[in-house]
Amino acid sequence: MVLVIFSMNAWAIELKGEFLEGSLITGKAPLKSTVKAGEKKLLLTDGGIFTFGLGYRSEEIKISVVDASGQMENHNIKVLKRIYDVQRIDGLHPDKVNPPKSILNKIKEEQKKIKDVRTRASSWSDFKEGFIWPVLGRISGVYGSQRILNGELRSPHFGVDIAAPVGRPVISPAGGVVVLSENDFYFSGGTIIIDHGHGISSSFLHLSKLEVTVGQRVIKGQIIGEIGATGRVTGPHLDWRVNWFDQRLDPQLLVDPMPEILIPPPPMRP
Ligand SMILES: [Zn+2]
Repeated sequence: MVLVIFSMNAWAIELKGEFLEGSLITGKAPLKSTVKAGEKKLLLTDGGIFTFGLGYRSEEIKISVVDASGQMENHNIKVLKRIYDVQRIDGLHPDKVNPPKSILNKIKEEQKKIKDVRTRASSWSDFKEGFIWPVLGRISGVYGSQRILNGELRSPHFGVDIAAPVGRPVISPAGGVVVLSENDFYFSGGTIIIDHGHGISSSFLHLSKLEVTVGQRVIKGQIIGEIGATGRVTGPHLDWRVNWFDQRLDPQLLVDPMPEILIPPPPMRP
């Protein structure tokens, strides 16, 4: 779902997307421009296409453009605030809520690996094709919800959880290159990260089976693994996350609503 909100003829650039926490914005700049979002210099494709994300709790973003002639233009754009749910999850293994000391180093290493692959700005631009659901199923967790795990406050949830049976194939929601494929991360279990270019990446958590390896190019719709219940879970599901570098985006803003046929109908009245 991409809404055209800004189409300002007076501007040197075009921007597409909703200026809302968790959104992905794409844009087009005159050739040979330099475009920055905040302090970050953006990659431009040959056609002048660029992208950036509006992270959790972002309030305002400054877009600056310098065109080939040196003309400069600045825009401060307000980001709409969202209200997030609180989600309580009980019945997790206590070690997954408060990991034993012996495991803290393993967790740190895993977090570093994840962080490293998310800092890359790759020149491919698969994000331009748009995204599809990696698997269909009931949505059991949403972006930004405050998490209370076994009664303890934890950081917000940044993915969308899709409940589906173990073994159901998971497909890549857009083309890209596999940058991480790990069988056994402590919290996320079987984990894949795909780089869609320009800092946009998707992460797939809790998989039971991984069918791609690091360095492999995948196309939109290609099977990358299978639904599992690995890591910190109470049941089988996919947790799909989208990042712009370290900024967390809301995957649900990138795709059409989950097909309704999958949501059980309300009980019939007599
Ligand atoms: Zn999740």
